[in-house]
Amino acid sequence: MNYYVMTLFPEMIENGMNTSIIGRAMAKGLLSLETVNIRDYSVTGNGRIDDYPYGGGAGMVMQAEPVYRAYEDLVNKIGARPRLIYLTPQGRVFDQAMAEEFAKEENLIFLCGHYEGIDERVLEEIATDFVSIGDYVLTGGELPSMVMMDSIARMVPGVLSNQESGQFESFQGNLLEYPQYSRPEDWRGKLVPPVLLSGHHGNVDRWRRDQSILRTLRSRPELLEKVEFDKKDRKYLQALIHDETEDKVTEEEKRILVKLLAF
Ligand code: SAM
Repeated sequence: MNYYVMTLFPEMIENGMNTSIIGRAMAKGLLSLETVNIRDYSVTGNGRIDDYPYGGGAGMVMQAEPVYRAYEDLVNKIGARPRLIYLTPQGRVFDQAMAEEFAKEENLIFLCGHYEGIDERVLEEIATDFVSIGDYVLTGGELPSMVMMDSIARMVPGVLSNQESGQFESFQGNLLEYPQYSRPEDWRGKLVPPVLLSGHHGNVDRWRRDQSILRTLRSRPELLEKVEFDKKDRKYLQALIHDETEDKVTEEEKRILVKLLAF
């Protein structure tokens, strides 16, 4: 996977991507990262790449021409026109499914805006995808591009060690991950759930699945609509509704479960 990032702050991307698992993957040659400083393509010759917005209003807008020139130079160098993701709060909200889809590409270009954004005309010419990382506004597209690159990289074969990639993760099958515990067994009087110490793999798996369902119900109930429940799951949902387990749920959560079981 080759990442290319068009930005006004290349050092922010380079510093942010060079550590831990992603840094290790780059060192191994599984990922590559190249930044393009849009400022180098200033048309005024003094490094200026922004101007006032037509129609008035606060802030500055990144001009079309420097972005376009930076892009043309980059695609000529790559020898292809890969997907270009413009990071914008107005885009489709990034999720795990999108990360999986982008991970199939060989090359990806990320375009980071700043100030009030980028002249619309160049976006119409070069952007193939408009992606947001959430419903809030940041000062620039650098952090969002790093969020995306990190999450996409985890899907690239070899980036995670066997041990890391074999793990169940949140959003797999539309469930959040179960709670995790490590040593000691007794931490300040709080004990690890006994089933995890039992050595009985079947019971551990069942407990984890139930806890995943419970967590998802509590934090992200809308995800449960897309979960395929088997017979044992349904038994647990019934037990929650009828207060037949140690896991207690609210009346509102019970109403959600009743609705789910009706389908
Ligand atoms: N004026 C723009 C608007 O209201 O849609 C916001 C511009 S924002 C201050 C500057 C840049 O930060 C954007 O061009 C975009 O690249 C990036 N950005 C800000 N929030 C983002 C988000 N939630 N997701 C992705 N990119 C974001």
